[in-house]
Amino acid sequence: MSVLVFAETAEGNFRKPAFESVSYGQRVAASLGLPLHVLCLDHELSESSIKQLGDYGASHVLWDRNELFRHFDPQPFAKALRTAAEATQASVIVLSLTYNGRALAPLLAAQLNAGLVTGAIQLPEFVGQEFRIKKNVFGGKAIATVALRTPVKIIAVLPNAVAPQRASTDVAVELFESGVTASDWKIKIKGIRKSSGKVILSDAEIVVSGGRGLKGPENWGMIEELAEVLGAATACSRPVADVHWRPHEEHVGQTGLTIRPNLYIAIGISGAIQHLAGVNGSKVIVVINKDPEAPFFKAADYGIVGDAFEIVPALTRAFKRFKSGELTFS
Ligand SMILES: Cc1cc2nc3c(=O)[nH]c(=O)nc-3n(C[C@H](O)[C@H](O)[C@H](O)COP(=O)(O)OP(=O)(O)OC[C@H]3O[C@@H](n4cnc5c(N)ncnc54)[C@H](O)[C@@H]3O)c2cc1C
Repeated sequence: MSVLVFAETAEGNFRKPAFESVSYGQRVAASLGLPLHVLCLDHELSESSIKQLGDYGASHVLWDRNELFRHFDPQPFAKALRTAAEATQASVIVLSLTYNGRALAPLLAAQLNAGLVTGAIQLPEFVGQEFRIKKNVFGGKAIATVALRTPVKIIAVLPNAVAPQRASTDVAVELFESGVTASDWKIKIKGIRKSSGKVILSDAEIVVSGGRGLKGPENWGMIEELAEVLGAATACSRPVADVHWRPHEEHVGQTGLTIRPNLYIAIGISGAIQHLAGVNGSKVIVVINKDPEAPFFKAADYGIVGDAFEIVPALTRAFKRFKSGELTFS
Protein backbone atom coordinates (compact mmCIF):
# COMPACT_ATOMS: atom_id res chain seq x y z
CA MET A 1 0.00 0.00 0.00
CA SER A 2 1.11 3.58 -0.56
CA VAL A 3 -0.03 7.19 -0.89
CA LEU A 4 -0.07 8.64 -4.42
CA VAL A 5 -0.21 12.39 -5.05
CA PHE A 6 -1.00 14.04 -8.37
CA ALA A 7 1.08 17.24 -8.64
CA GLU A 8 -0.71 19.53 -11.09
CA THR A 9 1.34 21.67 -13.44
CA ALA A 10 0.75 24.34 -16.07
CA GLU A 11 3.19 24.70 -18.97
CA GLY A 12 6.16 23.21 -17.17
CA ASN A 13 5.55 24.88 -13.82
CA PHE A 14 4.05 23.50 -10.67
CA ARG A 15 0.98 25.32 -9.52
CA LYS A 16 0.74 26.30 -5.86
CA PRO A 17 -1.92 23.63 -5.18
CA ALA A 18 0.63 20.99 -6.26
CA PHE A 19 2.87 21.89 -3.32
CA GLU A 20 -0.13 21.82 -0.98
CA SER A 21 -1.15 18.35 -2.24
CA VAL A 22 2.37 16.95 -1.94
CA SER A 23 2.74 18.25 1.61
CA TYR A 24 -0.74 16.93 2.50
CA GLY A 25 0.07 13.50 1.01
CA GLN A 26 3.40 13.40 2.79
CA ARG A 27 1.72 13.97 6.16
CA VAL A 28 -0.92 11.30 5.44
CA ALA A 29 1.81 8.85 4.38
CA ALA A 30 3.86 9.61 7.50
CA SER A 31 0.83 9.10 9.77
CA LEU A 32 0.04 5.75 8.14
CA GLY A 33 3.68 4.63 7.82
CA LEU A 34 3.25 4.25 4.03
CA PRO A 35 5.59 5.22 1.17
CA LEU A 36 4.74 8.36 -0.80
CA HIS A 37 4.79 8.59 -4.61
CA VAL A 38 4.09 11.71 -6.66
CA LEU A 39 2.88 11.66 -10.26
CA CYS A 40 3.79 14.45 -12.73
CA LEU A 41 2.27 14.59 -16.22
CA ASP A 42 4.05 17.34 -18.11
CA HIS A 43 6.80 17.05 -20.74
CA GLU A 44 7.85 20.68 -20.18
CA LEU A 45 9.07 19.98 -16.63
CA SER A 46 12.76 19.43 -16.01
CA GLU A 47 14.42 17.17 -13.50
CA SER A 48 15.64 20.22 -11.58
CA SER A 49 12.15 21.72 -11.40
CA ILE A 50 10.76 18.40 -10.16
CA LYS A 51 13.31 18.46 -7.35
CA GLN A 52 11.37 21.44 -5.89
CA LEU A 53 8.83 18.88 -4.67
CA GLY A 54 11.43 17.71 -2.14
CA ASP A 55 10.83 21.02 -0.34
CA TYR A 56 7.36 19.66 0.48
CA GLY A 57 8.35 16.09 1.36
CA ALA A 58 8.31 14.20 -1.98
CA SER A 59 10.97 11.49 -2.16
CA HIS A 60 9.84 9.52 -5.23
CA VAL A 61 8.40 11.12 -8.36
CA LEU A 62 6.93 9.26 -11.32
CA TRP A 63 7.27 11.46 -14.41
CA ASP A 64 5.38 10.76 -17.61
CA ARG A 65 6.87 12.99 -20.33
CA ASN A 66 4.23 12.23 -22.95
CA GLU A 67 3.64 15.47 -24.87
CA LEU A 68 -0.07 14.69 -25.13
CA PHE A 69 -0.54 15.81 -21.52
CA ARG A 70 -0.08 19.46 -22.55
CA HIS A 71 -3.88 19.70 -22.85
CA PHE A 72 -6.06 18.68 -19.96
CA ASP A 73 -8.77 16.12 -20.57
CA PRO A 74 -10.11 14.23 -17.54
CA GLN A 75 -10.28 10.85 -19.34
CA PRO A 76 -6.57 10.36 -20.17
CA PHE A 77 -5.43 12.06 -16.96
CA ALA A 78 -7.64 9.67 -14.96
CA LYS A 79 -6.21 6.76 -16.95
CA ALA A 80 -2.66 7.86 -16.13
CA LEU A 81 -3.52 8.19 -12.44
CA ARG A 82 -5.13 4.75 -12.50
CA THR A 83 -2.02 3.21 -14.04
CA ALA A 84 0.18 4.92 -11.46
CA ALA A 85 -2.17 3.88 -8.63
CA GLU A 86 -1.95 0.25 -9.77
CA ALA A 87 1.85 0.41 -10.18
CA THR A 88 2.30 1.85 -6.68
CA GLN A 89 -0.57 -0.12 -5.07
CA ALA A 90 -1.95 3.16 -3.81
CA SER A 91 -4.60 2.98 -1.12
CA VAL A 92 -4.80 6.78 -0.79
CA ILE A 93 -4.76 9.24 -3.70
CA VAL A 94 -4.38 12.97 -3.05
CA LEU A 95 -4.97 15.76 -5.55
CA SER A 96 -6.11 19.36 -5.46
CA LEU A 97 -9.67 20.53 -6.06
CA THR A 98 -8.60 22.89 -8.83
CA TYR A 99 -10.69 23.34 -11.98
CA ASN A 100 -9.00 20.22 -13.38
CA GLY A 101 -9.20 18.38 -10.07
CA ARG A 102 -12.97 18.93 -9.95
CA ALA A 103 -13.32 16.92 -13.17
CA LEU A 104 -10.63 14.38 -12.40
CA ALA A 105 -11.44 13.37 -8.83
CA PRO A 106 -15.01 12.00 -9.30
CA LEU A 107 -14.10 10.25 -12.54
CA LEU A 108 -11.18 8.51 -10.87
CA ALA A 109 -13.28 7.63 -7.83
CA ALA A 110 -15.91 6.00 -10.04
CA GLN A 111 -13.30 4.06 -11.99
CA LEU A 112 -11.45 2.84 -8.88
CA ASN A 113 -14.61 2.27 -6.83
CA ALA A 114 -13.02 4.58 -4.28
CA GLY A 115 -14.52 6.78 -1.59
CA LEU A 116 -13.99 10.45 -2.33
CA VAL A 117 -13.98 13.66 -0.36
CA THR A 118 -13.93 16.86 -2.43
CA GLY A 119 -12.64 20.03 -0.82
CA ALA A 120 -10.83 18.68 2.27
CA ILE A 121 -9.88 21.54 4.58
CA GLN A 122 -7.93 19.51 7.14
CA LEU A 123 -5.78 16.42 7.42
CA PRO A 124 -7.81 13.24 8.07
CA GLU A 125 -8.53 11.89 11.50
CA PHE A 126 -7.67 8.16 11.39
CA VAL A 127 -10.19 5.94 13.17
CA GLY A 128 -9.26 2.31 12.48
CA GLN A 129 -9.55 1.84 8.71
CA GLU A 130 -11.77 4.90 8.45
CA PHE A 131 -10.68 8.44 7.49
CA ARG A 132 -12.76 11.33 8.84
CA ILE A 133 -12.21 14.48 6.85
CA LYS A 134 -13.68 17.95 7.21
CA LYS A 135 -14.94 19.92 4.21
CA ASN A 136 -16.91 23.13 3.66
CA VAL A 137 -20.55 22.84 2.63
CA PHE A 138 -23.35 25.30 1.73
CA GLY A 139 -20.92 27.79 0.17
CA GLY A 140 -18.66 27.74 3.23
CA LYS A 141 -21.48 28.41 5.72
CA ALA A 142 -21.07 25.02 7.42
CA ILE A 143 -18.47 22.29 7.84
CA ALA A 144 -19.26 18.60 7.29
CA THR A 145 -17.20 15.62 8.41
CA VAL A 146 -17.07 12.92 5.74
CA ALA A 147 -16.14 9.33 6.63
CA LEU A 148 -14.22 7.34 4.00
CA ARG A 149 -14.40 3.58 4.55
CA THR A 150 -13.48 2.12 1.15
CA PRO A 151 -10.16 0.26 0.63
CA VAL A 152 -9.04 2.98 -1.82
CA LYS A 153 -9.62 6.57 -0.69
CA ILE A 154 -9.34 9.74 -2.75
CA ILE A 155 -8.87 13.15 -1.13
CA ALA A 156 -9.25 16.31 -3.25
CA VAL A 157 -7.83 19.10 -1.10
CA LEU A 158 -9.37 22.58 -1.26
CA PRO A 159 -6.73 25.01 -2.62
CA ASN A 160 -5.32 27.44 -0.07
CA ALA A 161 -7.03 25.64 2.82
CA VAL A 162 -4.24 23.47 4.26
CA ALA A 163 -0.92 25.27 4.48
CA PRO A 164 1.98 23.21 3.11
CA GLN A 165 4.81 22.31 5.46
CA ARG A 166 8.36 22.82 4.33
CA ALA A 167 10.66 19.81 4.22
CA SER A 168 14.03 19.02 2.70
CA THR A 169 13.83 15.62 1.07
CA ASP A 170 16.03 14.11 -1.66
CA VAL A 171 13.88 13.37 -4.70
CA ALA A 172 14.34 10.29 -6.91
CA VAL A 173 12.78 10.89 -10.34
CA GLU A 174 11.63 7.82 -12.25
CA LEU A 175 10.45 8.02 -15.86
CA PHE A 176 7.03 6.47 -16.10
CA GLU A 177 4.79 5.44 -18.98
CA SER A 178 1.14 5.54 -18.15
CA GLY A 179 0.18 4.09 -21.54
CA VAL A 180 -2.11 6.87 -22.76
CA THR A 181 -2.44 7.40 -26.50
CA ALA A 182 -3.96 10.16 -28.64
CA SER A 183 -7.19 8.16 -28.90
CA ASP A 184 -7.71 8.64 -25.14
CA TRP A 185 -8.18 12.40 -25.68
CA LYS A 186 -11.88 12.97 -26.23
CA ILE A 187 -11.73 16.78 -26.03
CA LYS A 188 -10.39 18.52 -29.12
CA ILE A 189 -9.00 21.99 -28.40
CA LYS A 190 -9.32 24.40 -31.32
CA GLY A 191 -7.50 27.33 -29.76
CA ILE A 192 -6.40 28.75 -26.43
CA ARG A 193 -7.01 32.32 -25.25
CA LYS A 194 -4.75 33.26 -22.38
CA SER A 195 -6.28 35.26 -19.55
CA SER A 196 -5.18 38.90 -19.51
CA GLY A 197 -4.00 38.96 -15.88
CA LYS A 198 -0.36 38.34 -15.01
CA VAL A 199 -1.25 36.27 -11.93
CA ILE A 200 -3.44 33.13 -12.19
CA LEU A 201 -6.66 34.01 -10.35
CA SER A 202 -7.24 30.62 -8.70
CA ASP A 203 -3.66 30.54 -7.33
CA ALA A 204 -3.37 34.21 -6.36
CA GLU A 205 -2.46 35.21 -2.80
CA ILE A 206 -4.06 38.64 -3.34
CA VAL A 207 -7.09 39.43 -5.52
CA VAL A 208 -8.39 42.89 -6.45
CA SER A 209 -11.98 42.61 -7.61
CA GLY A 210 -14.38 45.12 -9.16
CA GLY A 211 -18.15 45.29 -9.46
CA ARG A 212 -20.84 47.35 -11.12
CA GLY A 213 -19.92 50.28 -8.91
CA LEU A 214 -17.02 50.93 -11.29
CA LYS A 215 -19.52 52.16 -13.89
CA GLY A 216 -17.79 50.86 -17.02
CA PRO A 217 -14.84 48.92 -18.51
CA GLU A 218 -12.93 52.16 -19.15
CA ASN A 219 -12.44 52.49 -15.37
CA TRP A 220 -10.63 49.17 -14.91
CA GLY A 221 -7.22 50.81 -15.34
CA MET A 222 -7.21 51.76 -11.65
CA ILE A 223 -8.10 48.17 -10.65
CA GLU A 224 -5.25 46.81 -12.78
CA GLU A 225 -2.82 49.38 -11.40
CA LEU A 226 -3.67 48.48 -7.80
CA ALA A 227 -3.36 44.76 -8.69
CA GLU A 228 -0.01 45.38 -10.34
CA VAL A 229 1.49 47.15 -7.34
CA LEU A 230 0.23 44.40 -5.00
CA GLY A 231 1.26 41.50 -7.30
CA ALA A 232 -2.43 40.54 -7.32
CA ALA A 233 -4.82 38.91 -9.77
CA THR A 234 -7.95 40.75 -10.93
CA ALA A 235 -11.50 39.44 -10.54
CA CYS A 236 -15.04 40.76 -10.96
CA SER A 237 -18.67 40.21 -10.06
CA ARG A 238 -20.94 38.35 -12.43
CA PRO A 239 -22.89 41.28 -13.93
CA VAL A 240 -19.58 42.84 -14.91
CA ALA A 241 -18.65 39.73 -16.90
CA ASP A 242 -22.19 39.37 -18.25
CA VAL A 243 -22.00 42.81 -19.90
CA HIS A 244 -18.46 42.04 -21.15
CA TRP A 245 -16.69 44.72 -19.12
CA ARG A 246 -14.36 41.90 -18.06
CA PRO A 247 -13.74 38.36 -19.38
CA HIS A 248 -15.80 35.56 -17.85
CA GLU A 249 -12.76 33.76 -16.46
CA GLU A 250 -12.52 36.63 -13.91
CA HIS A 251 -16.05 36.15 -12.60
CA VAL A 252 -16.11 34.84 -9.05
CA GLY A 253 -19.05 33.51 -7.07
CA GLN A 254 -21.61 30.77 -7.04
CA THR A 255 -21.67 30.47 -10.82
CA GLY A 256 -18.03 31.45 -11.34
CA LEU A 257 -14.71 30.64 -9.72
CA THR A 258 -14.38 29.88 -6.01
CA ILE A 259 -11.21 31.47 -4.67
CA ARG A 260 -9.52 31.54 -1.27
CA PRO A 261 -6.78 34.17 -1.45
CA ASN A 262 -5.07 35.53 1.64
CA LEU A 263 -6.42 38.99 0.77
CA TYR A 264 -9.57 39.81 -1.25
CA ILE A 265 -10.21 43.48 -2.01
CA ALA A 266 -13.79 44.06 -3.21
CA ILE A 267 -14.36 47.41 -4.90
CA GLY A 268 -17.85 48.63 -5.82
CA ILE A 269 -19.37 45.20 -5.19
CA SER A 270 -22.57 44.99 -3.12
CA GLY A 271 -21.82 41.57 -1.57
CA ALA A 272 -24.78 39.52 -2.78
CA ILE A 273 -24.90 35.99 -1.36
CA GLN A 274 -24.08 34.52 -4.77
CA HIS A 275 -20.89 36.60 -4.92
CA LEU A 276 -19.91 35.78 -1.34
CA ALA A 277 -20.23 32.04 -2.05
CA GLY A 278 -17.12 32.29 -4.21
CA VAL A 279 -14.96 34.48 -1.97
CA ASN A 280 -15.95 34.01 1.66
CA GLY A 281 -13.11 31.53 2.23
CA SER A 282 -10.63 34.40 1.74
CA LYS A 283 -8.42 34.90 4.79
CA VAL A 284 -8.88 38.69 4.89
CA ILE A 285 -11.61 40.64 3.08
CA VAL A 286 -11.37 44.39 2.47
CA VAL A 287 -14.47 46.13 1.12
CA ILE A 288 -14.54 49.54 -0.54
CA ASN A 289 -18.09 50.79 -1.12
CA LYS A 290 -19.75 54.19 -1.02
CA ASP A 291 -22.89 52.75 0.61
CA PRO A 292 -22.33 52.13 4.35
CA GLU A 293 -25.31 49.72 4.26
CA ALA A 294 -23.79 47.52 1.52
CA PRO A 295 -24.17 43.88 2.68
CA PHE A 296 -20.51 43.12 1.90
CA PHE A 297 -19.43 45.09 5.00
CA LYS A 298 -20.95 42.31 7.18
CA ALA A 299 -18.48 39.82 5.69
CA ALA A 300 -15.53 42.24 5.69
CA ASP A 301 -12.52 42.26 8.00
CA TYR A 302 -11.82 45.87 6.99
CA GLY A 303 -14.18 48.28 5.32
CA ILE A 304 -13.70 51.67 3.68
CA VAL A 305 -16.86 53.70 3.10
CA GLY A 306 -16.27 56.07 0.23
CA ASP A 307 -16.01 56.66 -3.48
CA ALA A 308 -13.83 54.04 -5.18
CA PHE A 309 -12.66 56.65 -7.68
CA GLU A 310 -10.95 58.55 -4.87
CA ILE A 311 -9.93 55.67 -2.61
CA VAL A 312 -8.40 53.25 -5.10
CA PRO A 313 -5.92 55.74 -6.68
CA ALA A 314 -4.99 56.96 -3.17
CA LEU A 315 -4.36 53.38 -2.03
CA THR A 316 -2.26 52.65 -5.12
CA ARG A 317 -0.17 55.79 -4.52
CA ALA A 318 0.32 54.81 -0.86
CA PHE A 319 1.39 51.23 -1.74
CA LYS A 320 3.85 52.56 -4.33
CA ARG A 321 5.37 54.93 -1.77
CA PHE A 322 5.50 52.09 0.78
CA LYS A 323 7.26 49.80 -1.69
CA SER A 324 9.80 52.46 -2.56
CA GLY A 325 10.53 52.99 1.15
CA GLU A 326 9.22 56.57 1.02
CA LEU A 327 6.35 55.69 3.35
CA THR A 328 6.78 53.65 6.52
CA PHE A 329 4.37 52.44 9.18
CA SER A 330 5.37 52.34 12.79
C1 LIG B 1 -28.56 32.14 -9.69
C2 LIG B 1 -27.68 33.34 -9.53
C3 LIG B 1 -26.32 33.15 -9.56
C4 LIG B 1 -25.47 34.25 -9.41
N1 LIG B 1 -24.10 34.05 -9.41
C5 LIG B 1 -23.29 35.11 -9.19
C6 LIG B 1 -21.89 34.93 -9.10
O1 LIG B 1 -21.36 33.83 -9.28
N2 LIG B 1 -21.12 36.01 -8.86
C7 LIG B 1 -21.64 37.27 -8.67
O2 LIG B 1 -20.87 38.22 -8.44
N3 LIG B 1 -22.97 37.46 -8.76
C8 LIG B 1 -23.80 36.41 -9.03
N4 LIG B 1 -25.14 36.64 -9.11
C9 LIG B 1 -25.64 38.04 -9.12
C10 LIG B 1 -25.76 38.59 -7.70
O3 LIG B 1 -27.02 38.26 -7.17
C11 LIG B 1 -25.62 40.12 -7.73
O4 LIG B 1 -26.60 40.65 -8.59
C12 LIG B 1 -24.26 40.61 -8.19
O5 LIG B 1 -23.24 39.99 -7.44
C13 LIG B 1 -24.16 42.13 -8.03
O6 LIG B 1 -22.98 42.58 -8.63
P1 LIG B 1 -22.30 43.93 -8.13
O7 LIG B 1 -22.13 43.87 -6.67
O8 LIG B 1 -21.12 44.16 -9.00
O9 LIG B 1 -23.39 45.03 -8.55
P2 LIG B 1 -24.46 45.87 -7.66
O10 LIG B 1 -25.33 44.95 -6.85
O11 LIG B 1 -25.09 46.76 -8.63
O12 LIG B 1 -23.54 46.64 -6.65
C14 LIG B 1 -22.71 47.69 -6.98
C15 LIG B 1 -22.15 48.26 -5.69
O13 LIG B 1 -21.23 49.28 -6.01
C16 LIG B 1 -21.38 50.32 -5.05
N5 LIG B 1 -20.90 51.56 -5.67
C17 LIG B 1 -21.49 52.29 -6.65
N6 LIG B 1 -20.71 53.32 -7.00
C18 LIG B 1 -19.62 53.27 -6.21
C19 LIG B 1 -18.48 54.06 -6.08
N7 LIG B 1 -18.27 55.16 -6.85
N8 LIG B 1 -17.54 53.74 -5.16
C20 LIG B 1 -17.73 52.65 -4.36
N9 LIG B 1 -18.81 51.85 -4.43
C21 LIG B 1 -19.73 52.15 -5.36
C22 LIG B 1 -22.85 50.34 -4.70
O14 LIG B 1 -23.07 50.93 -3.44
C23 LIG B 1 -23.19 48.86 -4.74
O15 LIG B 1 -23.06 48.28 -3.45
C24 LIG B 1 -26.01 35.55 -9.26
C25 LIG B 1 -27.39 35.70 -9.24
C26 LIG B 1 -28.22 34.62 -9.37
C27 LIG B 1 -29.71 34.83 -9.32
